[in-house]
Amino acid sequence: MSVELPEAMILAEQMTKTLLGKQIKACEMRDYVKLQKIGFINKDIREFDRLIGCKIISIHQRGNVIRVQLNKKLNLVLGPDYGADILYHSSEESLPKKHHLKVGFADGSYLTIRQTGMGMVYCAADNEVNNLYVVKRDFSETPSPIGENQFTFDKFSELLDRRGQNIKAAIVGRTAVVVGLSNAAFQEIIYKAGIHPKRNTSTLSDSQKRDLFDAMMEILNARVSSGGKENWLDLYGEPGRHIPVMGPNMKDKNCPQCGARIEMIAHGGGQVYFCPNCQK
Ligand SMILES: [Zn+2]
Repeated sequence: MSVELPEAMILAEQMTKTLLGKQIKACEMRDYVKLQKIGFINKDIREFDRLIGCKIISIHQRGNVIRVQLNKKLNLVLGPDYGADILYHSSEESLPKKHHLKVGFADGSYLTIRQTGMGMVYCAADNEVNNLYVVKRDFSETPSPIGENQFTFDKFSELLDRRGQNIKAAIVGRTAVVVGLSNAAFQEIIYKAGIHPKRNTSTLSDSQKRDLFDAMMEILNARVSSGGKENWLDLYGEPGRHIPVMGPNMKDKNCPQCGARIEMIAHGGGQVYFCPNCQK
């Protein structure tokens, strides 16, 4: 299950509350070869040993990337894009069997990270951190739809107009006008806005752009206030409570608004569920 902007915001806030000031006593990597081969984990695993003895001084999040900043000019960068269990343990009793990285703190608590899909766990010095692909991507000029003040409807509308492209390309991935969203948020937002997944942004009316903006705000804020999407676990292992209004959970069901059968298409590198009647 992907980690998107709302879940990354929740994690970063919980990590700030829980981990700030803690000193790292030990780091252990396991099962890392597959992720290492594609550049998502340091080529030399011993680079994680640099973290030992360091204190966590701040935690920054943007998009779905979390940068844990330590003294001695070091960082732990987490880019849990396609899903990760990032869990805090007050003692070793609740430690999971599987992890990619296990960080032991001097006070006897732990942080474990297990990527369940593709994603980054990287130890980088201050002068290396900006070269990391996920940092370049999300700590960028591209606006964040929530969590920052400067994002307005006018800004959104201007960015949509700047390049006419498929609606999915405008919301998700490299060409998106916002950071931190993937296929799950996309399906919810366009269903709520009544827009078909194959639409081109150049064909959207002003009121449809407004609907899209409002739907994005509503869905993302609802996800934050419900503790993330259902089945996703926060830092303390608590599952989120947000049930998606559209997505794989609506397979073989009827649209709650109009009763039409929900359909699915393969689109933009993922499956997109939608209502053929409500979404035009
Ligand atoms: Zn419908």
